[in-house]
Amino acid sequence: MPGRQKKDGFSASRERMLTWDLKGRDITDPRVLAVMAEVPRDEFIPSSHQSQAYSDGPLPIGMGQTISQPYIVALMTQELRIDRGCDVLEIGTGSGYQTAVLSKLAKKVYTVERFGELAESAQAVLGRLGVSNIEFHVGDGSCGWPVPKLPPSGYFDRIMITAAVPQIPAPLAGQLVDGGFIVAPVGCRGSQTLVSCRKKEDKLIERIVCDVRFVRLLGKHGFEQ
Ligand code: SAH
Repeated sequence: MPGRQKKDGFSASRERMLTWDLKGRDITDPRVLAVMAEVPRDEFIPSSHQSQAYSDGPLPIGMGQTISQPYIVALMTQELRIDRGCDVLEIGTGSGYQTAVLSKLAKKVYTVERFGELAESAQAVLGRLGVSNIEFHVGDGSCGWPVPKLPPSGYFDRIMITAAVPQIPAPLAGQLVDGGFIVAPVGCRGSQTLVSCRKKEDKLIERIVCDVRFVRLLGKHGFEQ
């Protein structure tokens, strides 16, 4: 990241995260590992929890929301199979940490957050880190990205939902290109299954990855408030 010293006060704990929590489990994609080594998670964590910035657990980020644990961020990123040509839609900007990770692998990231306060603070951190290939939107991400602002192709190549959904919201499936992937925690309040879906001829072919626990996506095509 521009203007940031590589050898910072967190380098040892970041190294430990990479070795034990990511490589020591099933994160094998070298591009994902490189990005997880590069993006400073501490920048996205409130000052009250800085000492846990690289521990493998979710942490509070305000508004009753959480930043996901590093292993899950890496796993969802790996499952999305992003390349440099991809336009990626992320639902649930939160702290902006996952957004930063995606932005390092994709052409452009389009990210939607329900809380203006969280979107603003994520935008400030990402601006400070010099990340520029991101578009922000505040609103109900379960309805998809605003149509007038869609990428030139009219579709997203990849979609990641970082909050729990009862099922994949239909508007999101509709904005995914044929052959594209969508990764999301699907289930009920308190327990979900991480699924990776490939769109084929207007159908989503689903593969189960693992059990997860996310905060809920509240919205028209998500959970009711
Ligand atoms: N990716 C985030 C994790 C955030 S937790 C990170 O790395 O920090 C899930 C986020 O989804 C929360 O910020 C929550 O406010 C947001 N969210 C919930 N319902 C939403 C909706 N309908 N549209 C957009 N964002 C939503």
